Amino acid sequence: MPSETEVSTQVHTLETSGHKTLPSDYRIIKRRQCSEEFERSYLVYDYLDLTEGTRRAEQLNDCRKFAWFIRHKTTGKLKVASNGCRLRWCPICSKARSYHITEAVLKWIEGLKVSRFLTLTYAHSDAPLHHQIESLYKHFRQFRKRPLIKRNIQGGIWFFQVKKSTTDGKWHPHIHILTDSKYLDKSIYSQEWFATTKNSSIIDIRLVRNKKKSADYVARYAARPATLSEMSLTENIEVVTALHGKRLFGKWGSAKDCQIGGHVFAEAADWQKVGSYKHCIEHYFTDNRAKKIIDTWQNDGELPENVYFFELDDNKSRELNPDMFGCSLDDIELEGVP
Ligand SMILES: [Zn+2]
Repeated sequence: MPSETEVSTQVHTLETSGHKTLPSDYRIIKRRQCSEEFERSYLVYDYLDLTEGTRRAEQLNDCRKFAWFIRHKTTGKLKVASNGCRLRWCPICSKARSYHITEAVLKWIEGLKVSRFLTLTYAHSDAPLHHQIESLYKHFRQFRKRPLIKRNIQGGIWFFQVKKSTTDGKWHPHIHILTDSKYLDKSIYSQEWFATTKNSSIIDIRLVRNKKKSADYVARYAARPATLSEMSLTENIEVVTALHGKRLFGKWGSAKDCQIGGHVFAEAADWQKVGSYKHCIEHYFTDNRAKKIIDTWQNDGELPENVYFFELDDNKSRELNPDMFGCSLDDIELEGVP
């Protein structure tokens, strides 16, 4: 749900400029929110397509190409359902994923008396990124199996983050873990990490005080482990290639029921379509039904059951079906007012 400030801004925008702020291509709205990251991801996929014979740049370009206004059958509330490309480095899909991960992680840590935030890392090194990532994963697995660690950490959610150091320009991969754990002194974690890696004792452990903030942090990086626009294109290609096929987050022990990998559109039967996004925008000034749908959506209102606006050849059914989105129902993302 948008905050009160966001709603009042939208209402103000609507009163002064109507739907003129809305482009008829829904992709433009979504890309505006992440234009630099989108452009960088496109360039990376375009480059990798050439060498790998894939068509991921095209797939990225089609993300949110198909968009429909849909109405909740009981509440009358409107959302936009659009196709997600589900590419790992698509910033639009990353944002949608992070929203769902936040919800799941928050639910888990709210059930814990105490949770702690542990970070494991290496000293900066000249080793190629993919070597560092491989060994970090391996050491993390070994670390979790150490008897002292096993006794103290009942479970956790881990995620991966990679940065380029601004001081020495070296790669700086680390693993963050939100833990369900007993108290263990920082120096002991440090000794255990050193005993695992044989060369790094660099750890950080702190108590989680703000659960929502921690869940947001986990979700942001679990959904997108690096910010591509902070690096050069060559570095982007190195990160994307080094992480290809690697898991970016996981869970174990008491966190195993946390639904961080699940997806969104199980409730398709609760919704009905009321018109394509493009068609409604294009007819805002010429058809009252289109105007009503868009005004209701922008004001987070409730649309009566009998209002819908379809193109002539598309008025047979109001049920959602995957064909409208060029993807499966599981690939569809639901969104409120942007
Ligand atoms: Zn996408």
